[in-house]
Parts: sequence; structure tokens; C-alpha cells
Amino acid sequence: MPTTEVNQDHFSDIPTIEGLRLSYESCFTCGVSWYDHHISLDCAECGGYALQRPCPECGGKCSSYWTRNCAISHEKRRATWEGKCLCK
Ligand SMILES: [Zn+2]
Ligand SMILES: [Zn+2]
Repeated sequence: MPTTEVNQDHFSDIPTIEGLRLSYESCFTCGVSWYDHHISLDCAECGGYALQRPCPECGGKCSSYWTRNCAISHEKRRATWEGKCLCK
């Protein structure tokens, strides 16, 4: 006899790709989700921006956007960005 019963408990125990991504793209210090564009202004790991920020070298004049390096931001507990200033 075929069963259509779904054991919900099993599903909630499996870490989903989306779940891992959400915790990776979140601040380990204050717990906000950068993925959802949340930041804490007084948090060094957030650094004032979520996953992207205007070029820090020229203050955004070159209109390039730098991307957060989540792994290093987590490790150093400080916002770390990757990108190139187009002014140079
Ligand atoms: Zn934070
Ligand atoms: Zn620049």
C-alpha cells in the first residue's frame, strides 16, 4: 500500500544550501543577515554595509562596487572588501 505520509521532522534536520548560505552571509558578531541587507552601524564586522559597498579607496567617486569577503570578515570579525578602484 503506497504511503503519502511525509515525515516533516526529517526535513528540518537537514541543513539546506539556502540555510548555509544565509548563515555564511550573516554577521557572526551581531547576527544580522547581510543577505537581507541588514547591518548594525556600530558593528566592526558589518562595517556599515551589507554585501556590497561603494569603493572605499576613493569614497565611491569611481562608482565601482566592492564585494564583501564573508570568510575573512568572519575570521577577522571585521568587514573585509574586495574590489578595484577605477580611478587608478
Ligand atoms: Zn555585525
Ligand atoms: Zn574608487
